Amino acid sequence: MQYEAVIGLEVHAQLLTESKIFCSCSTQFGSEPNTQVCPVCLGMPGVLPVLNKKAVEYTIKTGLAMNCKITPYSRFARKNYFYPDLPKGYQISQYELPLCEDGFLEINVDGEKRKIRIKRIHLEEDAGKNIHDASGYSFVDFNRTGVPLMEIVSEPDIRSPKEASLYMKKLRTILRYLGVCDGNLEQGSLRCDANVSIRPVGSKEFGVKTEIKNINSFRFVEKALEYEIKRQIKLIERGEKIIQETRLWDAVTGTTQSMRSKEEAHDYRYFPEPDLVPVSVSEEWIEKIKTEMPELPDSKIERLMKNYGLPLYDAEILTEEKALSEWFEEAVRFGGKPKEVANWIMVELLRILNEEGKEITESSLKPQQLVELLELVEKGTINRNTAKEVFEEVYKTGKSATVIVQEKGLTQISDDSILMEAIKEVIAKNPKEVERFKQGEEKLIGFFVGQVMKITKGKANPKMVNELVLKALKE
Ligand code: ADP
Ligand code: ZN
Ligand code: MG
Repeated sequence: MQYEAVIGLEVHAQLLTESKIFCSCSTQFGSEPNTQVCPVCLGMPGVLPVLNKKAVEYTIKTGLAMNCKITPYSRFARKNYFYPDLPKGYQISQYELPLCEDGFLEINVDGEKRKIRIKRIHLEEDAGKNIHDASGYSFVDFNRTGVPLMEIVSEPDIRSPKEASLYMKKLRTILRYLGVCDGNLEQGSLRCDANVSIRPVGSKEFGVKTEIKNINSFRFVEKALEYEIKRQIKLIERGEKIIQETRLWDAVTGTTQSMRSKEEAHDYRYFPEPDLVPVSVSEEWIEKIKTEMPELPDSKIERLMKNYGLPLYDAEILTEEKALSEWFEEAVRFGGKPKEVANWIMVELLRILNEEGKEITESSLKPQQLVELLELVEKGTINRNTAKEVFEEVYKTGKSATVIVQEKGLTQISDDSILMEAIKEVIAKNPKEVERFKQGEEKLIGFFVGQVMKITKGKANPKMVNELVLKALKE
């Protein structure tokens, strides 16, 4: 029997508002515990929440970017449960009337476009954080209590762990383009619960799902789902049943463990939040937000391909981060050849940034500096290999490529007589290879060129060396 997976993701994204959702406390991450709290977010009796307009705006923005309908009338609800990090005893969330509904997001799976529908996007408040200390005591930090949280729920349209991580990456990219969430998985600004079931290939019905919590990286989304799919298939093949339950991903063992079954699930006793008026969103407001939308990754990919003749692969990499695509376009404005610039970004710049664990916004190399380097290659002042060395130097020292080439004497040797001298030396030293070449082993040309490059410390003009070596050998 062949099985297919059915997956739906619930992603929580902390919004980048300065203040919390129902009070004016700061949302700054990493402050001393319990320094960003007030009677409202501590859930003192008698206090009243006031909705943060920016949080609503950010959610609408996200909804528009994900092709959702923005509901003109939505409402908050109380989700009741007791937990130490939830001082009110209930979370204010949205239930039957969310802000955004019925959208979709496109992912590119091995060159094929797939639409993943979005069921709803709603707004809620985050809970605090329990800290279990080695001393055996537990502590609660309420700084996170009331940070605006957006929940993005997909339809069960995802069919593989790979698609799930592509979906999550795409979602993160869009949120970062919009500037509504920093997408930092390690700090928990973006969190994901994955729902998964299996069914025989060809079947239309859904199987019983399990929900995996505690996933905080793209790699773990894939790993957790792969594990869970295998586990479910094994159970079914043994004739057992899947039980609907919540499971926790354990990164150390690479497994999922049961946390609670459906029977133990909370009854949240949802009811409309009496302390907040319903949210009404006018057409004018939506129109205004539309005018403030940035160019999104999908249309940017198309534009980069159309305007600069880039292949899809390049365009996708360059648009993963908005700042990276801007860096690219700035280099092109300074006169860089688009494909050249793209190659240098993808091969050299991203490698160096990756090694240093830096983002493009922290790059010490500026677009103009790369263009200057590329011009030196174009003019024949340095060859490509030398250019890589100079690139590193420019990156590290901030000096211009021209200055580095002068200081280090890296100028390409394009002088016939100097090159001929080196070539004669190589020919004299390698009589056997010369003989073989003359017998018709023409691929040996590469060997001779390599030897000449070695003698000239990589500075020779490779094109000229090639021509001159051929000429010398045929004489
Ligand atoms: P629940 O009421 O259990 O929270 P929802 O209908 O709200 O279920 O869906 C929660 C998430 O689970 C959504 O992302 C949805 O796409 C996904 N989902 C629903 N049914 C299934 C299923 N049978 N298999 C996999 N995922 C599912
Ligand atoms: Zn507060
Ligand atoms: Mg649900």
